[in-house]
Amino acid sequence: GGTRAALRVRGLTARYGPVIALDDVDLTAPPGRVTAVLGANGAGKTTLLRTVSGLLRPKAGRVELGGVDLTEASAEDVARAGIAHVPEGRGVITELTVEENLRLGSLLGSLRSASRTPPTLADVYSLFPPLRRRVGHAAHSLSGGERQMLVIARALLSAPEVLLLDEPSLGLAPRVVSRIFAVLRDLVDTEGLAVLLVEQNARSALSIADTGVVLNLGRVVARADAATLAADDELRHAYLGF
Ligand code: ATP
Repeated sequence: GGTRAALRVRGLTARYGPVIALDDVDLTAPPGRVTAVLGANGAGKTTLLRTVSGLLRPKAGRVELGGVDLTEASAEDVARAGIAHVPEGRGVITELTVEENLRLGSLLGSLRSASRTPPTLADVYSLFPPLRRRVGHAAHSLSGGERQMLVIARALLSAPEVLLLDEPSLGLAPRVVSRIFAVLRDLVDTEGLAVLLVEQNARSALSIADTGVVLNLGRVVARADAATLAADDELRHAYLGF
């Protein structure tokens, strides 16, 4: 239950010392939509997610979830507010089993305010059947695709309003990517989850996204619905690499 909340970013600016990594970025990730953030290496995509999730303090601008200001919130409070961040590189705890990793996600779900009923372990196993077959296995024994399923499943167990995904397709076979994206698309459509999807692989991101923004040197250089971006030859050649 409960109305789904949109993530809104306004005028977001972030620096690493003298390097301006994000420059006055505006974007909205509404419920029931996949919003892609595209751009070359170094465009600022990871910095955007780190700033939204409270890992990096912005120099200027605002981050809001459902109208609640999270700009100065700690990473823990951002997570508790309902923004789940799946970082690049699949942060599974390799010494723990699949089930132990998932229980950590459930723990965060139980700490979140009771506005939304978190999914159960059984729910995420039916979303990602390969995980069910590997419950008692240490996470280090999983394939790349299984690890990506595991971190997404763990994030879903916290019953987020918004899922931030950093390069989920990296290093995975196209067939595995399609499978994971199909699960996400279904959750977005049926549950109204908001997904903010960071990808260097623009072609595959635009195949699942509703809308996209293109970053270059920390600035938004284009924003449109996914089909429009995918059909723009000039933009594809200049920024999207396909
Ligand atoms: P990638 O796909 O390589 O992660 P990206 O689009 O996510 O690229 P960011 O990682 O956000 O880009 O980097 C944006 C800019 O900030 C780049 O110029 C990068 O070199 C710089 N940068 C990123 N992290 C740091 C850091 N820890 N210290 C200094 N500069 C950094």
